[in-house]
Amino acid sequence: MILAVLDLLFPARCAVCARIGSGLCVACAPVVPARTLRSATLQVSALGAYEAPWRSAVLALKDGRRDVAAALGRRLSGLLPESVGLVPVPTTAARRRRRGFDGALLLAQIVAARTGGSVYPVLSQVAGDAQRGRSRSARLKARGRFHCAQSVPPGARLMLVDDVMTTGATLEDCAAALRRAGAQVDRAIVVAATPWERIRTLVTPTLTMI
Ligand SMILES: [Zn+2]
Repeated sequence: MILAVLDLLFPARCAVCARIGSGLCVACAPVVPARTLRSATLQVSALGAYEAPWRSAVLALKDGRRDVAAALGRRLSGLLPESVGLVPVPTTAARRRRRGFDGALLLAQIVAARTGGSVYPVLSQVAGDAQRGRSRSARLKARGRFHCAQSVPPGARLMLVDDVMTTGATLEDCAAALRRAGAQVDRAIVVAATPWERIRTLVTPTLTMI
């Protein structure tokens, strides 16, 4: 009831053209097959490249736009073959406090509600500020930044969820933490992946386009 009233007061608007009806309209973001990339140990499916229109959608998500989150979650749920356990890549506690919500967690919850899966928000950053002051290449190569703060079902097959993938280093780091806790992880879904031309110039010899 409350949600219905909110929908009337704040109808969903496209993150790109502001047209009423959906957080991301099909005119701005036509439904096309997902991009699939492979990092060291993961197959990563992305709705598109991190440029227009997906960049606008991700920025709106980071701003807390739930209508945009709903539209993105709807599209991401179409990438899943079956109901699986979803693990959102955690944002730092400082960022979550500043924004008041966690975009990857919200996406995972929307996808799980549509696919009948479960959400396991079990990962935590080892030290949110440890990255500060590091160079970009040092950040990209950083390992062991995440740990499993809660137990996962033994042998569970889990899939990671995030908004943007750059080199895949963060996803790999998260997957390693889940494996240490006994889970199986071989896939991730993201809204957008850094365009391939840009990825090639970064320190990522293992990432390939499928
Ligand atoms: Zn639009």
